[in-house]
Amino acid sequence: MSKDRFISGIFNYCDYWCERCAFTRRCRNFAMGQEIEAECKSPHTDATNQAFWNNLAGKLNQASMVQNSNEWLHSSWDDDGADANAFLHEGEDDDEMDAYMRQEESLRKQVNDHPLPRMAMDYMHRVQAWLNAADADLKGLAQAWLDAAKVPEDECDYEELARSVGEMIEVITWYHTFLYPKISRAIHSILELRAGDRGILAESDQYDANGSGKVVLVAVERSIAAWMFLREQLPKQEDAILSILVLLGRIRNGIHTEIPGAKTFLRPGFDTGG
Ligand code: SF4
Repeated sequence: MSKDRFISGIFNYCDYWCERCAFTRRCRNFAMGQEIEAECKSPHTDATNQAFWNNLAGKLNQASMVQNSNEWLHSSWDDDGADANAFLHEGEDDDEMDAYMRQEESLRKQVNDHPLPRMAMDYMHRVQAWLNAADADLKGLAQAWLDAAKVPEDECDYEELARSVGEMIEVITWYHTFLYPKISRAIHSILELRAGDRGILAESDQYDANGSGKVVLVAVERSIAAWMFLREQLPKQEDAILSILVLLGRIRNGIHTEIPGAKTFLRPGFDTGG
């Protein structure tokens, strides 16, 4: 596997929708997932053999390091395969670790209390409630289209409309759980930066906040477009959808205010073209 093939850090600011990603071939995270999957499915691998499980454990460890590598965006992990775990704990004594844990706990509370993650959590719950409550209206719409499609004079492309509704619901469903963790991560980085004393890590805090904020903005825009389409098709859901759109608008404005660099951030691969 050529190391030049991968775009460094591309998986840090994507939406994890690998099924729809144009960069699977250039994503180390995706490649590792594929390797693990192939390993599990391989008919030549004996799962009753300890070597199988040791091999899998090694790959899982690598995969989790990739997922957690956002703090080391500018480190050489991608280039030389250095052991990030060893680097993380190098030179730390117990006092430093305690102080670190206390600071992390305090940050976690601040993130939980911040309006943006709270709005994202609210959004997630509202969408879940909407998906449950709108079932009858969606089925009613489907039946109306089935009936209308039988009328010879009606030239509307109901098949295309039905596909679009399915697509928009899929987009909404995908992103409604995505926003909260990504916004929390962006706010965590911003609060960490504001806490000061970050030294050389300040730059990566800012970078991570901007990158996480950018992918949140992308997810919000796609969700807004999907809701707008559903709003047109489901007049009975007008009020519910409008209030969801207002919430998404507040989240978008909040990101612009809290993380002004998010809008212009260029995500590796997605915004830079590889
Ligand atoms: S960059 Fe693409 S392939 Fe890699 S994890 Fe993200 S969505 Fe999946």
